Amino acid sequence: MPQYDYDLITIGAGSGGVRASRLAGKYGAKVAVVESSRVGGTCVMRGCVPKKLLVYGAAFSNHFHDALGFGWRIGETLHDWGKLVAAKDKELNRLEGIYNRMLRDSGVTVLPGRGVLTDPHTVEVNGKSITGDKILIATGGWPVMPDFPGKEYVISSNEALDLRERPERVVIIGGGYIAVEFAGIFNALGSEVTLVIRTGHLLRGFDQDVRATLGEELEKKGITIRRDCTIRSVEKTGGVYSVVFDMGEEMIADCVMAATGRAPATSNLGLEQVGVTLNQKSAIAVDAQNRTSVENIFAVGDVTDRINLTPVAINEGRVFAETFFNKRPMTMDYTNVASAVFSQPPVACVGLSEADARKNHRVRIFITRFRAMKHTLSGRDERTMMKLVVDKDTDKVLGCHMVGDDAPEIIQGLAVALKAGATKAQFDATVGIHPTAAEEFVTLRDPVPEAET
Ligand code: NDP
Repeated sequence: MPQYDYDLITIGAGSGGVRASRLAGKYGAKVAVVESSRVGGTCVMRGCVPKKLLVYGAAFSNHFHDALGFGWRIGETLHDWGKLVAAKDKELNRLEGIYNRMLRDSGVTVLPGRGVLTDPHTVEVNGKSITGDKILIATGGWPVMPDFPGKEYVISSNEALDLRERPERVVIIGGGYIAVEFAGIFNALGSEVTLVIRTGHLLRGFDQDVRATLGEELEKKGITIRRDCTIRSVEKTGGVYSVVFDMGEEMIADCVMAATGRAPATSNLGLEQVGVTLNQKSAIAVDAQNRTSVENIFAVGDVTDRINLTPVAINEGRVFAETFFNKRPMTMDYTNVASAVFSQPPVACVGLSEADARKNHRVRIFITRFRAMKHTLSGRDERTMMKLVVDKDTDKVLGCHMVGDDAPEIIQGLAVALKAGATKAQFDATVGIHPTAAEEFVTLRDPVPEAET
């Protein structure tokens, strides 16, 4: 008789949990995944995937305008928000089916319900106790909502993805990934968008030139950015909301959305009771092998608050499964993880920002700003910005940053170069593909003069 019901019980069927469970199952482990919502988790059901489908849908409005300059005569265009949301939902259902099938094919049992640890080897689901040799916590994160009178009227991105109608006037609190992505979606579809940020710039943590460029581009598209501003209260009057800013000014909106960060989902899981240590941000503290303070309990993904990106969670899940179910001990390398923001225009970067690089390196900075060839005819008033941060002593490229069309697709390739330790001389020795925007990254010859950096 085996000592436990399962070799592995995973709590949370998001990106990290699914990858770990599938691999462990493939390597012969008996695995159960407990999920209280939909299989697929934040990325597939409430984040990356539905968001990007809406970004695609919204971007057509720019394409229609661009087409005029290329000789097209465009008739009346009309967007049906309900149809887009329904198409997106259909795709999510399809993906959920695929995720369920992949788990089943790997021999993994999916247990719908909320999992709570009652001892280090026991999880209670729907009043029933199951035991596991190893437990993996992969419960992700959840939106943090701001606190002011009227906060109950404020929606998060979860609800924004399922709105029945597109709001005409939207106030978005926050200037991070989610805020600028949704600002782009609503703006392109014709809504009046106001971003309310408590500091002077969007996208904290990104390179300063990226932050400034994106702010300018969003403002050119008609998005209002209220800088150094917070919200005092929101009141509902009739079908609309009255938003009062800290200086007492008021504006009317049809929708108020907060994108003010996400917190690790660690509450009510029984973690403290079984001795799992949380850090100051209430995230599960883990070592390089994803082990918590309890020997047989592990955690991956946003619940550990390391780098909160889907591909990172997937890699952590893989590292966990390879190490403990395939006898291939691994750790994840967190350096040079590329990331993208699907704003309009998009942002992508890999490596260090100029400010971070300057903390430990002497640097040379290369920047180009230009109008993409397509927009010479489209007439679109949009500038692309590309930037390289290079170590002056070793010539290594420390950071690549871009704001402009296709930035995420371009930076993914450059991430390989940075991972391989590419130098600026190697970038220079690379022959560009002409005519592209990407070729600019290999033709940046003159550094920004020291005095200007
Ligand atoms: P972020 O941490 O990116 O941004 C939060 C924003 O909210 C910041 O601008 C922050 O301001 C502001 N903020 C925080 N608290 C308050 C407050 N009380 N009042 C006013 N403003 C506030 O969080 P998001 O919610 O945008 O996204 C969560 C995470 O999801 C991201 O960190 C990312 O890891 C992930 N994600 C990744 C995506 C991608 O890869 N494309 C897309 C979407 C999400 P300040 O700068 O001053 O702190």
